[in-house]
Amino acid sequence: MQKSWDVVVIGAGVAGGLAAYDCARRGLTVLLVEKRSFPRWKVCGCCFNANALAALTAVGLPDLIGDQGGVPLDQVRLGWNGSSLNLALPGGWALSRERFDQALVHAAEAAGATLRFQTSAVLEQTSASERVVRLRPSGGAPAERVRARVVLVAAGLQHQVLASSDHSRLRIAERSRVGAGCFINDDDDVYASGVIHMAIGRHGYVGLVRREDGALNLAAAFDPAALRSAGGAACAADLVLRRAGFAVPRALEISRWQLTPELTRRADVFAGERFLLLGDSSGYVEPFTGEGMAWALAAGAAVAPFVEEAQGAWSGALERRWQQRLEELTVSRQRLCRLLSTLLRQPLATAAVFRLGCHWPEIPERVISALNRDVPHTACSDPCL
Ligand SMILES: Cc1cc2nc3c(=O)[nH]c(=O)nc-3n(C[C@H](O)[C@H](O)[C@H](O)COP(=O)(O)OP(=O)(O)OC[C@H]3O[C@@H](n4cnc5c(N)ncnc54)[C@H](O)[C@@H]3O)c2cc1C
Repeated sequence: MQKSWDVVVIGAGVAGGLAAYDCARRGLTVLLVEKRSFPRWKVCGCCFNANALAALTAVGLPDLIGDQGGVPLDQVRLGWNGSSLNLALPGGWALSRERFDQALVHAAEAAGATLRFQTSAVLEQTSASERVVRLRPSGGAPAERVRARVVLVAAGLQHQVLASSDHSRLRIAERSRVGAGCFINDDDDVYASGVIHMAIGRHGYVGLVRREDGALNLAAAFDPAALRSAGGAACAADLVLRRAGFAVPRALEISRWQLTPELTRRADVFAGERFLLLGDSSGYVEPFTGEGMAWALAAGAAVAPFVEEAQGAWSGALERRWQQRLEELTVSRQRLCRLLSTLLRQPLATAAVFRLGCHWPEIPERVISALNRDVPHTACSDPCL
């Protein structure tokens, strides 16, 4: 394999897949490395909002979700303590991560990127002009080293990619919840297609949505102690659904759940010597508003001009501009998301939100619209702007 690349992208999730595509279509040599084999399932609510679509449109992939059979979403049903609240959603889509992530890596490959699956990557030393990346294939084949002008670290929540000399540490928020998810084949039509069903409990919440193949996708966030005391994610989900007044799907009993580490975390800096962090690797907030993919896609769509600039000398100024750009794209929205999650942990506040929403649905609908408001994406090639 070629030993020297303009950019090595670590992680073929939404941030890495989109960044690899955009860099490749600009003529950069791109190696996209993914530790799992594709298509792969991952814990996620699978809902794309208008901001996610705007990021795809900004790099010329406006139809990617629709072409993959994405299900249009126009409503969100919130349930809490036996009451439910139906709110309009200003345009969204549900699509499984197996389909979406696979479509993105196909687009990257078609644009000229080289893909390496079942291979873990870690950063090693830096020279004046390049960074060394060690690739370790799963299955025991010998490790090899490649060099890159710049490395994009898009390896998700709990990445272990940076070298010990790289000064970027992930800080996990106190009382952070953990994520959990599964999908079940359930033909019960209680959970209608085109709607996000969200059951809110005191110690967590569960979101359910119909995927393009008709399966029901469940994604949840739980307090770790509640998860332990319930005896696992299926039982914790059962409790939240019942208490919210939602039907418990029959297949929940035999569902197989996957857990994530603590969700709310943030890297103290988003860049270092010849690497840039993006997507969940730079930070994440509990998924109540279902925006993580929009943040990751926005970063993936914004990074290529920085990669182009980094083909020359590396500078602290470039690191600082990436830090600033990522903050513009995500931090204020993450603040709103954190505020909502904190509010919904308080039973009195949740009751008040429900009462308010029943009388004046336009108030929560305005919040939903604000979350869907498009953040301007870089269409220019100058990362200084
Ligand atoms: C319960 C839950 C529900 C959610 N619901 C929604 C939702 O409805 N809508 C939404 O927009 N967002 C949602 N999210 C958030 C969303 O899933 C994430 O924000 C998004 O997946 C982040 O994308 P990413 O590309 O940064 O990371 P990921 O999608 O996690 O991709 C990272 C990739 O890197 C690979 N990798 C890791 N380490 C290495 C390595 N060393 N070498 C090579 N490859 C590596 C991993 O295998 C993985 O494929 C939810 C999250 C949770 C936990």
